Amino acid sequence: MTKGLIFDIQRFSLNDGPGIRTTVFFKGCGLRCAWCHNPESIASYQQLSYDPTRCDGCQKCMVAVGGKGISILNQKAVVDMDIHDRTLELVGVCPQNCFRVLGDEKTVDEIVNVVLKDLDYYRESHGGVTFSGGEALNQWPFIESVAKKLKEHGLHLTLDISGYDPARYLNYTTDLIDLYLLDLKTSSDMVYQKYIRQILDPKQTLNTLKKASRPVILRCPLIPDINDDPGYFDLLANLVDEYDNIIETNLLPYHKLRKNQNFKLYNDRQFFTEPDSTRKEIWVKEIRDRKIRNVWMENKEISL
Ligand code: SF4
Ligand code: SF4
Repeated sequence: MTKGLIFDIQRFSLNDGPGIRTTVFFKGCGLRCAWCHNPESIASYQQLSYDPTRCDGCQKCMVAVGGKGISILNQKAVVDMDIHDRTLELVGVCPQNCFRVLGDEKTVDEIVNVVLKDLDYYRESHGGVTFSGGEALNQWPFIESVAKKLKEHGLHLTLDISGYDPARYLNYTTDLIDLYLLDLKTSSDMVYQKYIRQILDPKQTLNTLKKASRPVILRCPLIPDINDDPGYFDLLANLVDEYDNIIETNLLPYHKLRKNQNFKLYNDRQFFTEPDSTRKEIWVKEIRDRKIRNVWMENKEISL
């Protein structure tokens, strides 16, 4: 694999592992979480997006496609993204820059060059680089080449994984990756089927990482009344108890994210209720009742 397909490189990230980091987001994911915060990461190819807020209704895009899948309503183009998901030529047609391509093909050196710009910050803050997504593991052969070059500079490397690894790359990553961020999505097969469309067993992933003596930070997206049931906290307590390589757990309260751009969605995106302070207090109590060690929420450790 000579190029990787990424959808963003975020410098100075503070929430994707220790210290100051650069996070490289890879495109393509086999899961379909209904609460996904990066739905533009799901498709594993370059995809068209459309931002209607910039449109002045000039009709140039409509003319370019002969009216197929684009109409004008109230001085704005209405674009059928199912039809134009891959009509990347529209980017060059629009004078208002309403269209853009989600996904950039980058070489190993292009990524390494961006990352190395902040070498001093990583060293001072004990930070490094995080590979995220999407499901970064899907592009492991490419990431491996990037990781080898970054290791020549002694950088700390983190891999953010969903627990779904159809190509079973995880075993090949442990020589290069220093830390893993692993999602714990639900304890319920019903929730997996309904909201994610795959049933995962986090123990499979944790067994591999424990055998390789690799530390893990568990990330727990909590969506009120969807996955924050007592069974979830029981599972979390059991995992933290059984796997001493889980060094930390982060509770991630659900929040709605609205993006202006339209693109073809590959999940049944839904908006859920955001947790209020009462709900968060219930979560804290669930953690304390089970005496789960080293759990953090919103940058604060939950004291036991
Ligand atoms: S070309 Fe751009 S500005 Fe013109 S109608 Fe299409 S989207 Fe709107
Ligand atoms: S695993 Fe992550 S990137 Fe993939 S659909 Fe779920 S939340 Fe989105």
